[in-house]
Amino acid sequence: MESRETKRGAGKLEAAEPRNKLPHLAPSLSTDPALYSGPFPFYRRPSELGCFSLDAQRQYHGDARALRYYSPPPTNGPGPNFDLRDGYPDRYQPRDEEVREGLDHLLRWLLEHQGQLEGGPGWLAGAIVTWRGHLTKLLTTPYERQEGWQLAASRFQGTLYLSEVETPAARAQRLARPPLLRELMYMGYKFEQYMCADKPGGSPDPSGEVNTNVAFCSVLRSRLGNYPLLFSGEVDCVDHQAPSTQPPACYVELKTSKEMHSHGQWRSFYRHKLLKWWAQSFLPGVPNVVAGFRNPEGFICSLKTFPTMEMFENVRHDRDGWNPSVCMNFCAAFLSFAQSTVVQDDPSLIHLFSWEPGSPVTVSVHRGAPYAFLPTWYVEAMSQDLPSPPKTPSPWD
Ligand code: GDP
Ligand code: MG
Repeated sequence: MESRETKRGAGKLEAAEPRNKLPHLAPSLSTDPALYSGPFPFYRRPSELGCFSLDAQRQYHGDARALRYYSPPPTNGPGPNFDLRDGYPDRYQPRDEEVREGLDHLLRWLLEHQGQLEGGPGWLAGAIVTWRGHLTKLLTTPYERQEGWQLAASRFQGTLYLSEVETPAARAQRLARPPLLRELMYMGYKFEQYMCADKPGGSPDPSGEVNTNVAFCSVLRSRLGNYPLLFSGEVDCVDHQAPSTQPPACYVELKTSKEMHSHGQWRSFYRHKLLKWWAQSFLPGVPNVVAGFRNPEGFICSLKTFPTMEMFENVRHDRDGWNPSVCMNFCAAFLSFAQSTVVQDDPSLIHLFSWEPGSPVTVSVHRGAPYAFLPTWYVEAMSQDLPSPPKTPSPWD
């Protein structure tokens, strides 16, 4: 991949409402795709630093116990016939979405591994720490027309931490989620159960419960332009027969989508869904997305593998398609904007970056609750492990 720093559209100063006669300069960041086309920026090949698992009670374990094994139906057989509605709602244990976890699980991993991080001393102090899912939202922002986002940012011991805040609109939508949409969410997890085994070479067991508290998370290191990244993302399964056994190259992302029949349906799928699939899997270097296509009765009758690095080909010549360079250049511009905006090193100081479709990204400043997201246990433990500051001679000594 090419190396090229990008600052286009970044940190523009716009005159806001003059207050007390003094013009107030409010920084903002445009999300117009036209500003971010051009060469693909440098993106370091993601490497896995470690992993952790969350169990059925959403308890953290610093190991791969929740990792599952890719186990598709035999290709010579009759083809899949997965009833995705089976077990709903009686064998469904959904995660409690009212629990705001923030970065907590990732921070626990970081605390337990900070001494062993590669990259040399001080690498973490120059890095950005976040969830993969937050970066996915940044990548797709120039093309997003429906859902806005809010990202809270704090600097602590040099590191910039980014944690998403649920917008009031997103919360309202979640609380009013229509029953059909709830079932559709279940169906996505049910597909994973049909496609994954608990052991390498094992067979899937669709008779069990679907518990969405369970998660296997990979912790990755990368760099976008000049911004070192440490992020974690949930991984669906590992293909122990993949050409490379080295994570993340052996990981597989599983997705479901509506069966398509017309050219127009495929076009729309490439323009909208494939962008999200690409962004999510490109970031951690997951090479393949395996899609199950469901019929109107909720059965998966066909599977198709989409190599992440080939997804863009489907929209390369489409005027209304998406461009990976735009996604990555915008993300780099946002990281640059955030790095230059969040200057003070203070875990209780929060810069809240807010975005709504059709507007630029704006910033507001907050202290403490409810926006502060670095937990006391993390801040205190990280402060204790710091070498004690040199004693400054006092004039009374
Ligand atoms: P994704 O890329 O959006 O799937 O999110 P990540 O892979 O970055 O996951 C980050 C953490 O958030 C993991 O612990 C996930 O289990 C959790 N997570 C993922 N999606 C959701 C969601 O829709 N709601 C909640 N509450 N947590 C989620
Ligand atoms: Mg998935």
